[in-house]
Amino acid sequence: MKIKYLLIILILISQFIFPKKIDYTVLRKNMVEKQILERGITDKRILNAFYKVKRHLFVKPELRHMAYGDYPLPIDENQTISQPYIVAIMTYIIAPEYNKKILEIGTGSGYQASILAQLVKNVYTIEIKKNLGLKAKKLIQSLGYKNIKFKIGDGYLGWKEYAPYDGIIVTCSPDHIPPPLIEQLSVGGRMVIPVSYTSNVQELILIEKDTKGNLKRTNLIPVRFVPLIRNINGK
Ligand code: SAH
Repeated sequence: MKIKYLLIILILISQFIFPKKIDYTVLRKNMVEKQILERGITDKRILNAFYKVKRHLFVKPELRHMAYGDYPLPIDENQTISQPYIVAIMTYIIAPEYNKKILEIGTGSGYQASILAQLVKNVYTIEIKKNLGLKAKKLIQSLGYKNIKFKIGDGYLGWKEYAPYDGIIVTCSPDHIPPPLIEQLSVGGRMVIPVSYTSNVQELILIEKDTKGNLKRTNLIPVRFVPLIRNINGK
């Protein structure tokens, strides 16, 4: 009888000394199936991109166990990495065919840019906060995703040098659609952008530019993104 108790105690102690390793591959698979596929995004290329990119590397080490949860998470500088489903919706909406060139405003952790890099030929991403932009660049380079170009600056102005873009994804929220981004959208291009109507009401909006250069605007869903700022002091 005593030996039996001793064994139980030993097993309990060993679980403290050798804690179970988290299996991120299983968590990632669950995230793709439950949060993305089962909510209607069935495009195999998009699902594969989410299988491939290790989201836990894009969050703070102490939050890694939560990286595949159905919510946004804080990253440095009081910013956030979006909820996986929102990243998936925005990706799906811009229709990321292989030969496309996509501009992202708000590099943040670099997760959305890394997902896009699996799907399209060229990704351009702009971050206003230098620390975040440089950290994301370093991580992404270590992962070997080579088709992303990084810029530190104000994304409101776009990135004229490489314009026009087939798709523009804005991951911070302005109170109006920045005219330079409309200018830099190609004919037939799609832009997805969370526009703030008031300080706590935002809507994800799709802008399509037709062959005559006319714009079509579709309101999609209510969302919550950090604000687009015009300088690093937050103004
Ligand atoms: N796409 C990111 C999430 C970004 S959070 C990811 O996958 O992790 C929004 C980011 O937009 C923040 O990092 C914030 O610093 C940045 N941002 C805010 N205003 C900006 C601007 N004018 N130009 C570029 N980036 C901006």
